Amino acid sequence: MRILVTNDDGAGAHGLSVLHQIAKALSDDVWIVAPEMNQSGASHALTLQVPLRYREIGERAFAVRGTPADCVIMGIKQVLKDKAPDLVLSGVNHGSNLAEDVTYSGTIAGAMEGTLLGVRSIAMSLTIGFDPDGKQHWKTPLEHGPHLVEQLLASEWPAMTLMNINYPDLAPGDVKGVQATRQGRRDQGGLHIQERADTWGDPYFWVGFERRRSDPPAGTDLRAIADGFISVTPLHLNLTHETTRAGLEGVLSLEGAKRLKDAG
Ligand code: MN
Repeated sequence: MRILVTNDDGAGAHGLSVLHQIAKALSDDVWIVAPEMNQSGASHALTLQVPLRYREIGERAFAVRGTPADCVIMGIKQVLKDKAPDLVLSGVNHGSNLAEDVTYSGTIAGAMEGTLLGVRSIAMSLTIGFDPDGKQHWKTPLEHGPHLVEQLLASEWPAMTLMNINYPDLAPGDVKGVQATRQGRRDQGGLHIQERADTWGDPYFWVGFERRRSDPPAGTDLRAIADGFISVTPLHLNLTHETTRAGLEGVLSLEGAKRLKDAG
């Protein structure tokens, strides 16, 4: 099995080496194509206005001056053009990707791009910041990741669907279990703007996210992580809202425009 590993935190990120180890536990044919710079929050962006450049940073490892989506495209269409990967792994992200995070996340986008190119893809993220001693539990994805990937690969997996795995902020042995979840919705105003002053006294702004415990509904990715479980959410790339679309069938027509024109 050929595995392509990417992330959004950048080629030097610790989480990438953790994911590399997870991949190596599953196969000897593992390739890294990851961004030069931290691309967190880059979502599914493509670099189209400047050329893409990549360089070898190790054995079967490359860094691309671009986004996670660029990396997966370069990985599949350039680096591995002789034989496509069977699996794309993206992460392990420094911080969870839950609820609407998935629409901002470069980690998720790496898996989205793999999925669009016809390769089964899994995003992995580690919750960080809730351990009372400030520990980061990278051993948790390392210990539980390979087995979860095996289970997912053996499961029914429709086209246009990717898997979003989040690990709780707990040591491997303290994890309560694993749950198949749905994308939740944050019940808090997480997004905020910080205003600061530069050297000249002019204001500049920094977007930040507040991360605190909340009380999310059962069955969601947020709830699973809050309860100490690993969360696995299948995400679908077709964003159509079907009931709204069906409702629009009786609403939309060009007749109104014709009436307005006749009246004018
Ligand atoms: Mn990130």
